[in-house]
Formats: sequence, structure tokens, C-alpha cells
Amino acid sequence: MTAPTTARLWCEWAWTGSGGGAPEHGVLLEVGADGRLTRVESGTPRPPDAEHLAGLTLPGLANAHSHAFHRALRGRTHTGSGSFWTWREVMYRAADRLDPDRYLRLARAAYAEMALSGVTCVGEFHYLHHGPGGVRYDDPNAMGRALVAAAADAGVRLTLLDVCYLSGGLDARGEHLPLAGPQLRFGDGSVDAWAERVAALDLADAHARPGAAAHSVRAVPADRLPRVAALAEERDLPLHVHVSEQPAENSACLAAYGRTPVALLADSGALTERTSLVHATHLTDDDVAAVRRSGATVCLCPTTERDLADGLPRTGDLVPAPLSLGTDQHAQLDMFAEARGVELHERLRTHRRGVLGTGILLRAATVQGHASLGWPDAGSLTPGARADLANVALDGVRLAGADPAHSTDAVLFAATAADVRHVMADGRWTVRDGVHTAVPDTAGELDTAIKELLR
Ligand SMILES: [Zn+2]
Repeated sequence: MTAPTTARLWCEWAWTGSGGGAPEHGVLLEVGADGRLTRVESGTPRPPDAEHLAGLTLPGLANAHSHAFHRALRGRTHTGSGSFWTWREVMYRAADRLDPDRYLRLARAAYAEMALSGVTCVGEFHYLHHGPGGVRYDDPNAMGRALVAAAADAGVRLTLLDVCYLSGGLDARGEHLPLAGPQLRFGDGSVDAWAERVAALDLADAHARPGAAAHSVRAVPADRLPRVAALAEERDLPLHVHVSEQPAENSACLAAYGRTPVALLADSGALTERTSLVHATHLTDDDVAAVRRSGATVCLCPTTERDLADGLPRTGDLVPAPLSLGTDQHAQLDMFAEARGVELHERLRTHRRGVLGTGILLRAATVQGHASLGWPDAGSLTPGARADLANVALDGVRLAGADPAHSTDAVLFAATAADVRHVMADGRWTVRDGVHTAVPDTAGELDTAIKELLR
């Protein structure tokens, strides 16, 4: 990546993150050499010495839930009558063929595609830790380091949500299963071994920071959850966990512990403001109340949730809980699609329109997503914040004719990632005129990395 340079940018229209969902006209941004915004001023005439950013400029987008290697499965798993569980078998086959070098190439290209869609920060839910059969690499964090290097190459900040994964599942009788087959690569054997490996990955880079994760109540037995939560607390890390994505998880958890997954997390100290609950699809009234009381973020991944026939989350009931968005398995990589998916799914569930509104959806895609990943100084266009932005063209075929004064609505409901024209992260341009500055042949790199893996 090149060093950040000072810049003066004049945005024809910008949504700065303050107020509701309406854009402001004539927003002057100044970027300092430290990659932060030094000045943000609305309602200014265009200065002759500032770069003109036409269209709508948003704060950089945060993709709060990613499994980078699932990008290899795009287009290969979506048809037929399989379930979440048969999809998982295909995913395991791809996982089995990755090594650190292949993972670096695949993740670098996937993160570059993410940058092209306006993303400046990703939460990587990382559980593919070890070699085939569970054999440790010489550096037990070799796979995590590959992801850190990939994100640096792609100019996307990374929170490496290092996943504790101890059990191969929870059966209908409520019994935890041993890890088997490809799952052996995910497990550290004990929660202490997981904590030791996490501590050994010293992320000093400005672009990456550590996070903690419990894969799910299926993969982490109840008596180990408090230790995972305590480590997140001790080290002040975000804590992410898949929860209640499928009814089968709830019934197995009830059989095992007499409680729902959300109640189990709450009882384990794992439901706090630092927690992100990924999916949170099948919640009881008590679960919803507990989530709202806790201050936890709910991370929704609507493209994946409908692809896997998960069901519809109770989003309107959960708000004002903070929301974040993820592309999860990357069946598509488009944060606008995820944002409108949240609202449109809620319309299908409630038979009502306009449930969440543009401001809530934009905050989920920006400031709340960044905060849930441990970057509270990103996701809004305010002085002192990280200079992250995603500039969206309004003159392409999808948005031509839109009213610029309502361009946030137009972008949320009609734009695609292909409308993103320029992206800056930490004061560096990562995308110019729709081309990644460091990975210009992003499609070619994706093609090579995926065919190498799945040939
Ligand atoms: Zn996931």
C-alpha cells in the first residue's frame, strides 16, 4: 500500500453518519497525512483546488461477518434441494484443500473484491487454523497470518475474529460430538490451547487487530463458554458468535442445557456490549428482550440467510439493538444488497413497509459495523475519524434519474457494488474509477485462486 497523502475532496453529496438518512450537499473533506479526516464541512461551494467527487459519498462500509474461503463456493452450491447441512459438506471439501499460500491468494482476491464494493474493514470469522488432520503448522497461526497479509495487500482493515471450535456439533439428544474429518483443522483441543494460540498472534499492524469468537453453542460446550467470554473481556476484544441460525440448534441446545442458545450465552457472560450475535434468526421473546438489554450487536447476513433457507429474523423487534451487516459466505459481495435485504426481509415477515428506515440501515453498514469490530473511530465522516469513504456513482444505468437529494434511498434500494467508483481506507485510495489500485486484475486473481483450489 502507498502511504496516505493529504487530500482535499469536495463531495457533491455525502452522508456523513450524523442525523437521519438524508445526504448533505457540498461536503468538503480534508485528509491529513495520518490518514484521518481533519476537516468536514457541509454546504460549501466547490473549491478550485479540491478533487470533485460526483455522486454520493458514504463513510467506508464495514463487512462484519466474512468467511473468506467460502468465496470459492460461489455459484457452486446454490441450486438443488440441499439444506444448510448439505451445504456445509461442500464447504468442508473446499476447506480441506487450503494451505497458507493458497489461502493468502484466495483471501487477497476476495478482500480486493470487497474493497471494490466499498468495504474498508472486514470481520473475518476465522476457524480454519490447522493443517489437514489437525496437524499444527510450524507457526500455529500461519493461516491467520495469511489472512492478515491478504487484507494488507487489499487495503482492507481486518479484525481477525479467532474462533474457538472444540466440538463437531450438538446432536438432537443434546450431546456434543467429537471433531471429525475437515473439522479437525478447526479445533485447538481445549479452550486454553485456543487462548494460548490467540495470545501468540501479536498483531502490531495498524490495519489488523485481534478479536475473539466462539463458533456457536454447537461447537463450544457450555462449560467452556465463560472462559472464551473472559478472555475477550480481559483483552478488550470484540466477541462474535453464530447463534440460532437454524431451529435444530435451538432444539439441541434445549435438549442439552434446558435453555436457548441466547440464554446460554447470557448465563456464560458472553452476552454483553462487546458481543455480536451473528444471524440471531430463531429467537424467543425472552431472547429478544435479553439481547436488547445487553447492548449486543446483531449481525445480519440476509443473502446467506435466504440462500441457506434459514428463516426470517425478528429485526424490527430487536431494534434499537445495534445492527451490523455481513456477506458471510459471499454468495454475492454487495453491502447495498445486504442492507436492503434486512429491510425487505422484515417487510416479508411483518407485511409492513419502511420498518427500519435509511438511517438505521446506513449506520448498520458503517459506524455500527466498524464499532462491532473494534474500530470505534471509523464509519462516519467526522473530524478525527479514519479517512474511509465509498463514493457511489449516480449516473450509471441503475441510478440514472434518481433525485440526488434522496440519493441515500436510491443507493440503498437500487445500487449494486458495481456502482462504487472510488474507495479510500485510512487515507489511501484502494479503488479508483472502479479498479482496485493494488489488485487491478481482481477477477483474474479470483479465477486463478479458486480454480487452483477446486480443480
Ligand atoms: Zn458465518
